[in-house]
Amino acid sequence: METRKKSESSGVRYKRSRQRDRILDTLRGTKTHPTATWVYDALKKEFPDLSLGTVYRNLGILRDQGFVRVLQSGSTFDRFDADTSAHYHFICERCGQVSDVPMLPLPGVERAASDALGCAVSGHRLDFFGVCAECAAGAEQRPTAARA
Ligand code: ZN
Ligand code: MN
Repeated sequence: METRKKSESSGVRYKRSRQRDRILDTLRGTKTHPTATWVYDALKKEFPDLSLGTVYRNLGILRDQGFVRVLQSGSTFDRFDADTSAHYHFICERCGQVSDVPMLPLPGVERAASDALGCAVSGHRLDFFGVCAECAAGAEQRPTAARA
């Protein structure tokens, strides 16, 4: 996997840790793009010594290693995604849910930006906003993103 190669050549080496392995497992086991607090809550029974700071630090290492992608939302807490393939996200403006958009990355946008800028473009990011199907159907209100 491409991201693995990247981490091997990055020069920075971290001693493998069981906690970090489990943090990655936990992220890989969900499609909800959780916050660090959610990951902490999911693992604190298994690791009574775990602190939220440790979770944050390990998520940063996993990001540096290319195993995890950070979804920065600006106003709320960062969310984490173990799916590092190129894909877009949809954010529900009502419940805060973040979901993957099952579509291929748009072809040509990076070339268009590169042409417009006259410089090299190495990637792009695109988020969609709206009201998710559950909210639109009037499903019971769930906890907001800020508390998830
Ligand atoms: Zn929603
Ligand atoms: Mn995703």
